[in-house]
Amino acid sequence: MYLIDTHTHIYDHQYSLDRNDAMQRALEVGVKMMLLPNVDASTIAPMLDLHEQYPDCTRVMMGLQPEEVKEDYKEVLAAMEKELERGIYVGVGEVGLDFYWDASYEKEQLDAFETQLDWAKQLHLPLSIHCRNAFDKMVKLLEKKQDGGLCGIMHCFTGTEEEAKVYLDLGFHLGLGGVTTYKNCGVKDYLPNLPLDRIVLETDAPYLAPVPCRGKRNEPSFLVHTAKRIAEILQMPLEEFAAATTTNTETLFQL
Ligand SMILES: [Zn+2]
Repeated sequence: MYLIDTHTHIYDHQYSLDRNDAMQRALEVGVKMMLLPNVDASTIAPMLDLHEQYPDCTRVMMGLQPEEVKEDYKEVLAAMEKELERGIYVGVGEVGLDFYWDASYEKEQLDAFETQLDWAKQLHLPLSIHCRNAFDKMVKLLEKKQDGGLCGIMHCFTGTEEEAKVYLDLGFHLGLGGVTTYKNCGVKDYLPNLPLDRIVLETDAPYLAPVPCRGKRNEPSFLVHTAKRIAEILQMPLEEFAAATTTNTETLFQL
């Protein structure tokens, strides 16, 4: 089996004691490729270190996560834009809008997101998009910027069927993760209606571990649980479903 974790922060300090073991566990269960989205200025070095250590099974993305957009975001973005020039990044991420805990930087978040959407267009890179409590503003901005040049993943998608359709119509893929395995997640109910060629898988490790590991620190090897559960719902053989999502990811990121 060949699975790709399209969104994992395995370079995070939460793995400082057992990162190599976690990487081995992932590879052993078939998670043979891991896409690493950046978070802020401080995560670039650890992310690149991990990629250097595992060049064959990791790829890196560059971007400023919306919750980390603060007063100094313009300087941070300038440094990231420079970093992107190195040409080693397969995507722009993670970027987006998040007004869940704190909407005090709303204006800055919108501006930072728009800037990063422009990078993706200019560099022809797919996006990894984070959206929480911001659906209407997200759609408005994506509609404004979409001219056929934007593509990518709505990461950790947990919305309604109508919301899924809006993103699909805008040309985006849906990144399904651990939340899809939770009892109260509505995505399960309409999963069979989604186009299989627009679904990709992710853990968002260390967050949002799937059932039966819910509540634990998440890690890429747990992607198997999410894949199994979704394949079950779709009444598809796991291998077949895994292969489909892997092809989708390889096409999207030109891996
Ligand atoms: Zn993330």
